[in-house]
Order: sequence, then structure tokens, then C-alpha cells
Amino acid sequence: MKFKGVIALIMIFAVLVGASAVANMFSYTATEYALDTMCTITAYGINSKKAVNDSFDVLKEFEDKISVHRNDSDISLLNSRVLIATRDEDIFNMIKTALKVSKDTNRAFDITIKPLVDLWNIKGSGPVPSDEEITYRLNSISYTGVQVDFEKRDVFFTNPDTQIDLGGIAKGYCADKVAKVLENHGIKSAIIDLGGNVRTIGKKKGKVWRIGIQEPEGKRGEYFGILDISDKCVVTSGAYERYFTEKGKVYHHILDPRTGYPARSGITSVSIVADDGAIADALSTAVYVLGVSDGLALLNSPEYDNIGYIITDENGKVYISENIDFEITSESYAEG
Ligand code: AMP
Ligand code: MG
Repeated sequence: MKFKGVIALIMIFAVLVGASAVANMFSYTATEYALDTMCTITAYGINSKKAVNDSFDVLKEFEDKISVHRNDSDISLLNSRVLIATRDEDIFNMIKTALKVSKDTNRAFDITIKPLVDLWNIKGSGPVPSDEEITYRLNSISYTGVQVDFEKRDVFFTNPDTQIDLGGIAKGYCADKVAKVLENHGIKSAIIDLGGNVRTIGKKKGKVWRIGIQEPEGKRGEYFGILDISDKCVVTSGAYERYFTEKGKVYHHILDPRTGYPARSGITSVSIVADDGAIADALSTAVYVLGVSDGLALLNSPEYDNIGYIITDENGKVYISENIDFEITSESYAEG
């Protein structure tokens, strides 16, 4: 009875001052480590605490399916052939997008990068592998070893050595999943940040969300410009995220599937703004590998017409698409 009375009071209050103003008075934020990174979710609304907690449950279930660090995840079972095929909807959706981006980018993005990721062991600080080892691993890397049956929605491998790693696409895909969980709880305003993969819902207290884009040479949290968005995602890839140094040289986690080495394309960061998180994530990794010239050609092609981008290069030049609202705030950067 007491609870019903409180709800009734809130509803009367909502009618008097406006429902969205009341929703904005309630907010909940939580930060947890998931998908190999720090994830923060903030939601506004009466139901925000339950919505955020349920979102983290979904995030963890998702991680159980796709983690390459767990022997019993669907991905590990597929990679070890304990599982011959999967009809998991999330894996099917991610592979479908990954295969499209792999083709469109001429393999700058390749979902079968796992043998190379393991060899480089960037997270464990190397060491730098030999050219022979790299060449050997390169033989098994091609997205053509992954097949999907679109009717049955089956995923299976045709090459015995194929192994997949969803690290370049999973966080963007998952941010969309979390957004759906929040929306199903009636949330109309929220921001989801999965290690720099950001998705926003609605507006923040009636205004667009203002997202600081990480300064690639700066400390974590330092930004070089601000992006205004609502109901979109922005996914950023940069070498600064994960790397090790050997003999004064930096080796980072975005690998070029064509050479087998960490990509050195002259790009220092790529942010992609899109409706679809998986596309944004895969493209951010791919464009980092492609470099400015090929990356811009891809992003300006009719296929990716409505995609927004912010690309920074080694000279501090910033390439910004016309369809986004981005303001450079650091003196070290200028539009290219
Ligand atoms: P991101 O941080 O989204 O750019 O993705 C980087 C992660 O994706 C790495 O940690 C690897 O797990 C994986 N990866 C690295 N290089 C590639 C590539 N060329 N294509 C697909 N996935 C990649
Ligand atoms: Mg990515």
C-alpha cells in the first residue's frame, strides 16, 4: 500500500511538472569490468536502477558466449571445433556484419584474425614474433573460411585452421543490445559506454549528448573535440588502447591482416558515428588499418553514405564528415 501511495504521488507530480522532468530527477549509473574493458551505463527515469542492473546481466551473458578467454564460450567451442556450427542469433548477426565489412574493406578488417592476435599477445606484452611465425599464421587468416547459411542462420567454418575473434566488432554490437534492454524498461534517456564504444538514447535533460572524443596522444579521458549526438553510437579505435613497447618501438592491438603486423597507416584514431553499433565498430577498426586515403574513399562511397567519421592522423590533421556536429577543442589539432 505504501509503495502504491508513493507511485500515485509521483504520477500526480509528473502531471503537474511534466513527465520528462520527473524522469530526469531519477538517474542511476554503474561501472563494471566486462568485455575486457570498463563499461559505464547511465540511465534516467524512474526505473533506471533496475534497467542498468539488467543491462549488466545481459552484458555478462553476452560475454559468456563470445569471450576468447573462456574455454566454454560458444566462440571458443567453435574455434576448437567442439562445436561444429552455431545458430546463436548474436554470433550470426555479428558474423554477417563482419563478413560484409571484410569484403567491403578488402580484408583490412578480418574476423579470422585470432591466430595473429594470439601470436602477438599484445595484452601479455609480446614479445615481437619472428617473420616466419607471422607468415605461417597469415596462411590461416581469411574470412572466406567462415560460412553462413542465411536460411538456417547457421555459422560454420570451411577451413580447418580458421579461428575467429570478435574483439573488433563485439562492443559496438553489444552497446546496441544494451540500448534495447534499457528501452524495454521504458528508459528514454541514457548513455552506454563500453570502453569508448558509446551509444546514446534520447537526450540528456532535453539537450543533445555531448561526447568528448579521446585525444589519441593524451591521457585517458583527455579529449581533443566534442561530438553532439542523440540516438546514435560513436565507436573509436586507436593504438593507444592496448600496446607494448619493445626496443623503443610501439606494437599495438590493431593488426593488419594483409601484413601480419600492427597497422601503421598514419592514422592515430578513427571515430565512426552510425545507427548500427556493429557496423561502426567494424568500420573503426578497418579504417584504422586502411589509412586516411583508402579509409576516406570507403567512408565516402555510396555503401556507407550515412556514416559519420572523425579521423586524426600523425600530423594532427582531423578529417570530419559533413553529416556530424563535431567541434575541435584542442590547439594541437586542425581540420585537414
Ligand atoms: P577495436 O578496438 O574495435 O579497433 O578492435 C581491436 C580488436 O579487434 C583487437 O584487440 C583484436 O581482438 C581485433 N582485431 C585486431 N585487428 C583486427 C582486424 N584487422 N580485423 C578484425 N579484428 C581485429
Ligand atoms: Mg572496432
